[in-house]
Amino acid sequence: VIELGQPEHSIITTCAYCGVGCGFKAEMKGSEVVRMVPWKDGKANEGHSCVKGRFAWGYATHKDRMTKPMIRKSITDPWTEVSWDEAIAYAASEFKRIQARYGREAVGGITSSRCTNEETYLVQKLVRAAFGNNNVDTCARVCHSPTGYGLGQTYGTSAGTQTFKSVEKADVIMVIGANPTDAHPVFASRMKRRLRQGAKLIVIDPRRIDLVQSPHVRADHHLQLRPGTNVAVVTALAHVIVTEGLLAADFIAERCDDKSFETWREFVARPENAPEAVQDVCGVPAAELRAAARLYATGGNAAIYYGLGVTEHAQGSTMVMGIANLAMATGNIGREGVGVNPLRGQNNVQGSCDMGSFPHELPGYRHISDSTVRGDFEAAWGVRLDPEPGLRIPNMFDAALDGSFKGLYCQGEDIVQSDPDTQHVAAALSAMECIVVQDIFLNETAKYAHVFLPGSSFLEKDGTFTNAERRISRVRKVMPPQAGLADWEVTVRLAEALGYPMRYDHPEQIMQEIAALTPTFRGVTYAKIERLGSLQWPCNETTDEAGTAIMHRERFVRGKGRFIITQYVPTDEKVTRKFPLLLTTGRILSQYNVGAQTRRTPNNLWHDEDRLEIHPHDAEERGIRDGDWVGIQSRAGDTVLRATVTERVAPGVVYTTFHFPESGANVITTDSSDWATNCPEYKVTAVQVMPVAQP
Ligand code: SF4
Repeated sequence: VIELGQPEHSIITTCAYCGVGCGFKAEMKGSEVVRMVPWKDGKANEGHSCVKGRFAWGYATHKDRMTKPMIRKSITDPWTEVSWDEAIAYAASEFKRIQARYGREAVGGITSSRCTNEETYLVQKLVRAAFGNNNVDTCARVCHSPTGYGLGQTYGTSAGTQTFKSVEKADVIMVIGANPTDAHPVFASRMKRRLRQGAKLIVIDPRRIDLVQSPHVRADHHLQLRPGTNVAVVTALAHVIVTEGLLAADFIAERCDDKSFETWREFVARPENAPEAVQDVCGVPAAELRAAARLYATGGNAAIYYGLGVTEHAQGSTMVMGIANLAMATGNIGREGVGVNPLRGQNNVQGSCDMGSFPHELPGYRHISDSTVRGDFEAAWGVRLDPEPGLRIPNMFDAALDGSFKGLYCQGEDIVQSDPDTQHVAAALSAMECIVVQDIFLNETAKYAHVFLPGSSFLEKDGTFTNAERRISRVRKVMPPQAGLADWEVTVRLAEALGYPMRYDHPEQIMQEIAALTPTFRGVTYAKIERLGSLQWPCNETTDEAGTAIMHRERFVRGKGRFIITQYVPTDEKVTRKFPLLLTTGRILSQYNVGAQTRRTPNNLWHDEDRLEIHPHDAEERGIRDGDWVGIQSRAGDTVLRATVTERVAPGVVYTTFHFPESGANVITTDSSDWATNCPEYKVTAVQVMPVAQP
């Protein structure tokens, strides 16, 4: 279906799906892609790929692609196609009107982890310089914002510590709340190769994921915890390490802050944190907790890889800090084969965070209240910056409902489908007066929009993506933008219409500005990426030419590593007689997030619906057979799916994916969120499940 003939030339670019960031050769016939071939010199993938990167790129030319800007006065009016000039002028005049009437803080922007570094940098610049506030946030808010906070607090920087290649030196691999086989397949293959060579494996997950027991790999320990009890588990592991004398005393003395260590040691050693005390809370037998802790602490190089099963909880940030504590306590930081490695979901989630898409941070994770840093940006941008942090995405929704937030510029993010508690999001959007959606498809959020600006796919623009190992790779334009403008050009024109002209002819100039203003990017240039293939930040005058493969080698970025107390607090999502099961969510290999891209490619043949996994005991109790339709009800809402009866989930736990809008998984997730970052608690929702007739 998609292989069109013999290629005439090829262009190297980077996959736009997951945070592995595989390099690909787009083989071309004229301006048409013939096939995507994994790039053998790509350092993240070394010639490998998964089904998404290899085959699921046809969405770029799908008939649903939007190519004309559109406006409408009210969301009940039909759309009118207009020129780029008219659409941008209308959007700008609406934002100006709103600010004149309701104040400077009444508008904001959302950046996308599917857009390039250069594009997200421009959106936050537009918000700060043209809107004059800090109301900018990123879709990382709903996935890895606790990683940013947790690793920032403990180590001093918001990024994974290793390269993917480092796993080849690991003796013990601990996978927490991640399912790499489905969500990060190329890295999963690398990890499995190491496991087949004899590395030991600990999996901490409420579900029996592929890594627990597949034809070639078997976990040495599967801690099948109850959803929502991560922090109890990580603190129990720390308890064993402390009380059984398994600490890396020399590393701690030399590299870590002694005061915080002593406080932490006293805390984790308390009897209430012992495995025997928490086993009934988390559902993992004490003996398993003890054995896993011993293996992690004494098995040689031990590396932790974690995913959204860690971050998307009310205690997401606490859990990230708990993981960081474990690695410091055992000296598993600062060399190959060890480390703390968040497996980022979207291709450029690391980059969108690096580029200052947070309401409190400028590019390079520098706080907006820092007058020296602010001064550098003010001098370069020619404006005064607001020193006060702006609104996070959930705060924007709340402010919209109380009438103080009225206008939103949303680039490449379908917040209606992605964010929890859909009804709440829809009500907030309905209360706004101007929503500008920039996307390649007319997504669910566009139903609430007044201006639609057609976006460009990764094949239609130049720029860079940064993957989960901080690797900056080039995205290269292989075909012209379907709508005539790349996303970065649209932002430049919108800024100009708002009265803040930006002058760039090519994304390379944007990267030059980023490098000049961001110390960790100081040595990043397109010419160097061209020559070396990719770079890893920090990349500057103090690092190797290609940047930094392993972080925190001699010292932590913050100086001494800081231990932080991880007090377990039960989630508000409690099972009751009305809602007796806990729902958790995840992904499958052939689909990607809300499916906007993969559902419009041949990958759709592989899997065409979201299903609810339910344990045979729970299914039998309710008279549910495999394939039956079931109704799922939570405190937030209800939806209908077909059931898969399976022992992959434990009794009392159900699981689903969220790739198809009709399944409405986020209609049932609640607005409970992480205490530090507001990352939603997607991974724990108390529900009831009952059989229903086919809808
Ligand atoms: Fe793309 Fe991720 Fe698959 Fe690599 S592993 S091809 S980056 S989706």
